Amino acid sequence: MKPIVFCDFDGTITLQDTTDLILESFADPAWHAVEEQWLAGKIGSRECLREQMSLVRAHEKELGELVDSVPVDPHFLEFARDCVARGFPFYIVSDGFDWVIRRTLARPEWNGKGVVGNFRIFASKLEVRERFMITTFPHGSVHCTHGCATCKPQLLQNEGRGYSPVIFIGDGTSDQQAAPCADMVFARKSKSLATFCMERKIPHSPFHDFGEVRRELWQKLAALVAEETRAANPLILSYETES
Ligand SMILES: [Mg+2]
Ligand SMILES: [Zn+2]
Repeated sequence: MKPIVFCDFDGTITLQDTTDLILESFADPAWHAVEEQWLAGKIGSRECLREQMSLVRAHEKELGELVDSVPVDPHFLEFARDCVARGFPFYIVSDGFDWVIRRTLARPEWNGKGVVGNFRIFASKLEVRERFMITTFPHGSVHCTHGCATCKPQLLQNEGRGYSPVIFIGDGTSDQQAAPCADMVFARKSKSLATFCMERKIPHSPFHDFGEVRRELWQKLAALVAEETRAANPLILSYETES
């Protein structure tokens, strides 16, 4: 067993979608129409975000203050600490922006030092120039047919090679393509990823907070270890059956 964890950021690690909050606070209302096109599947998330962020006008300081106000799942750090302590690679995969993610993880009161340095972050890039947003998408993929800002299924397939189980934790529309590429899916309760998995009959564990993810994941991994031990020692099993 060699687990690897891929975790979405907005709405999964944070309890609110930071990009939506930035748009609600600082964008021309035309961003809603772009969102509808994305939700209807007419454009990919890369085109959606590029267009939406071009409608934002804000100073870096204003953006930072807004990002700092977004609540994080209270059990996330504990969960991440456990994963890092056990040596599981921990990837944050997000259509959202690296600048936002790094700022959130660097909160002094959150004291994530020692854990956060072990994360690998794959996200869209944001640079604030004057009051304009410059976006780039370094983790879109040439093989991506969905128009993803960050192609999560490609990342799971490429970075997850050689690992098992591949664990994916998410909440929303941008996570749907990734779910079928994982061995274990955790989906935030009552959000669109959970509905999607239910409709497509993709096995998944709904969760309310990272305390639940932590408990359930350790149980599942312990069951896998027990199974591997039995498979590696068939004599023990047959002896027990015979006696
Ligand atoms: Mg999300
Ligand atoms: Zn894609």
